Amino acid sequence: MTLLDSRTHIPIARPFIGQEEQEAVLRVMASGQLAQGREVAAFEEEFARACGVAYAIAVANGTTALHLALLANGVGPGDEVITTSFSFIATGNAILFTGARPVFVDIEEASFNLDPELVEEAITSRTKAIMPVHLFGQPARMDRLMEISQKFNLPIIEDACQAHLAVAEGKGVGSFGTGCFSFYPTKNMTSGEGGMVTTDDPAVADKVRILRGHGMRQRYYHETLGFNYRMTDLHAAIGRVQLSRLSGWNEQRQANAAFLDRKLAELGAGVVSPPVTPGYSHVYHQYTIRVRPGGAVDRDGLKQALEGRGIGSGVYYPLPIHRQAVYQDRGYNDSLPVTERACAEVLSLPVYPGLGSQELEYIAEAVAEVTRG
Ligand SMILES: *Cc1c(COP(=O)(O)O)cnc(C)c1O
Repeated sequence: MTLLDSRTHIPIARPFIGQEEQEAVLRVMASGQLAQGREVAAFEEEFARACGVAYAIAVANGTTALHLALLANGVGPGDEVITTSFSFIATGNAILFTGARPVFVDIEEASFNLDPELVEEAITSRTKAIMPVHLFGQPARMDRLMEISQKFNLPIIEDACQAHLAVAEGKGVGSFGTGCFSFYPTKNMTSGEGGMVTTDDPAVADKVRILRGHGMRQRYYHETLGFNYRMTDLHAAIGRVQLSRLSGWNEQRQANAAFLDRKLAELGAGVVSPPVTPGYSHVYHQYTIRVRPGGAVDRDGLKQALEGRGIGSGVYYPLPIHRQAVYQDRGYNDSLPVTERACAEVLSLPVYPGLGSQELEYIAEAVAEVTRG
């Protein structure tokens, strides 16, 4: 038995902000250069190096990263972009922002990611890009997706907002085409709000940089319709400190996930632990189990029972993008059975780096107790 009891409260996520982050912000404040200063430039350089790419461009958040990545790859009105419906709404909405239409294909049962076997048949003469999401921190099948990308000459835009430093095919995510990252507080690292676009293509990098700052190259001469999607130096200063901690944090997430895998199996819990694609690394933005129907309890029942024991959990996502009101209004009526089943069965358990082994044990015991027949 563990020492934890009903007074326990374990949240689903607990962002860590240390002394160094606080000092970094104060340093920027004292410098007087709050925007377009050296912190953003240094963060971009350090993030590019961490991902193994030539260029990284800091932006206001992950959503704006996706929007600019699509625009810089020439996506616009009348185009189609193939993506997944089992993701955060921003994945689909960024495509809508450009005037293009998201085309949703179903996911793989095991990885929750875009099923590459369904991508090819979804390609039409209007298809302009393929946008996989590395959901929960596990890379999509980049071997197959890169084959399709090359065969049809379609750019890959990676929604890597949940997968900082994950590796597929021996390369960092965000290095396969144009990569998009988020630094929202609950992600594996944060800058408060923030985002980053990564690429090896100098033309894409240039377009993203220009679009980020009102289409301006020479001060007050605007060559194209751009946005104010800049990151502040205060946010970049936080991000730089967090980036220096990220590898260690990802390792702790992986150790916590391995512990949960082992404990849940040992205790005979009636849930499916998240499988990892062989040869890929999973950075466990979420540790997402499945609760199959017909067991001792269903997903919502387990969530409620954990709540009663002071354990936070999350349903990512209860409703797929194509079923959201915004998409219903646009006539979406897809049948995506694997996606819809995932929405009904998934539950994410706490896996953040600060969890102690007693807390992990308490979580695994609770899940087992509730789900064993
Ligand atoms: C968080 C997230 C985004 C959006 O990032 P923001 O920084 O919140 O704008 C996009 N896609 C996925 C998969 C995400 O998890």
